[in-house]
Amino acid sequence: MVTVGFFEGGNENTIVKGQEPDEDWLRRFREIIITYNENRAPDSFMLWFRQRDSEQFFADEFQRVLAILIVARFDQRTTAENALENTIAVVNCGALERLVTRNEIPLLIPKQNVTAEKWTDLFCSSLSELHSLSGRIIAQKEWDALKLLGFMKGEFRVPYLGTKTARLAVRWLHELVSSIKIDMLTYRILIDSLVYRVCSRLGIIDPHIDKYSGENSPADVKVQAFVSKVFPQKPWLLDEPLWSTGRQPDKGGHCFPKNPNCNGCLFQSICRRKFLDTDPSSLGMETSNAERQPTYKPRQQEVTSEQAEFAKYVEDLKQKGVKGEEYREKIMQWQREHRKGET
Ligand code: SF4
Repeated sequence: MVTVGFFEGGNENTIVKGQEPDEDWLRRFREIIITYNENRAPDSFMLWFRQRDSEQFFADEFQRVLAILIVARFDQRTTAENALENTIAVVNCGALERLVTRNEIPLLIPKQNVTAEKWTDLFCSSLSELHSLSGRIIAQKEWDALKLLGFMKGEFRVPYLGTKTARLAVRWLHELVSSIKIDMLTYRILIDSLVYRVCSRLGIIDPHIDKYSGENSPADVKVQAFVSKVFPQKPWLLDEPLWSTGRQPDKGGHCFPKNPNCNGCLFQSICRRKFLDTDPSSLGMETSNAERQPTYKPRQQEVTSEQAEFAKYVEDLKQKGVKGEEYREKIMQWQREHRKGET
């Protein structure tokens, strides 16, 4: 059993080593997180999705899920607005209904360090996998968040739908597609250098002891246990407040690698302000210099026989002119016949 506590103690904000966290501190921490989430700007994609859904824009669950997967995949190293704009562009060209080709869609807004041409090409080459993943998700009405993420990182992996974006997709699926039940108790927040730094300064982990080297490493286990304790039903509420606090000043952050600006920080009233003169991430993380780097490296050459078979099947449907409801029905039928690894 993981002890959820602070690594050393002794002031009004914390507890002593080995004891359960101070309930008053936890209450204040929860209040901060709840207030943050209540006051944050509305999510532009969720607004768009709900509006479209109310207009019966999506033909069925397949399209709802697919739209979420597409926007989550676009939401990396760019703004949420750009991701939504790209999504609208490809959706308007028919990407929810069929495998659109490169010539059918406009040049997309690129993400950082990738040209617009390349990003557009990569979308088109990923679309069959996105269709396949969408079909697989709707073929099962009940999911466990951790297992769903495992599928998305494993046999149903889509190029550039990495750790961060897959978690985003799972959150949106949970919040926007009511017919698919996702047990979020097993949802795990993403720990990068920003989150690690803030958790260290808050006193949740000790970078000298709680090393981070990926999932199930000591720091990961400790942070996830803390998250489960404070928000067992809605663990994702901690994602944004933690990492946005660790961002650079020009992006609204406060908890910089060195000499953080505590004035105006979200956690100012409860923070223990540990390790102010050194970056805790450089002490305790293997990827000490990473600033929210994606951990996923696409395996562009690794196409499984099943993916190849699915791509051929989709191409055959296209050649035969199969569209709309018939197309979706055939995709779902294919998924049912090829279901593997039931949870
Ligand atoms: S109060 Fe200061 S040390 Fe604590 S999280 Fe905020 S910026 Fe970092």
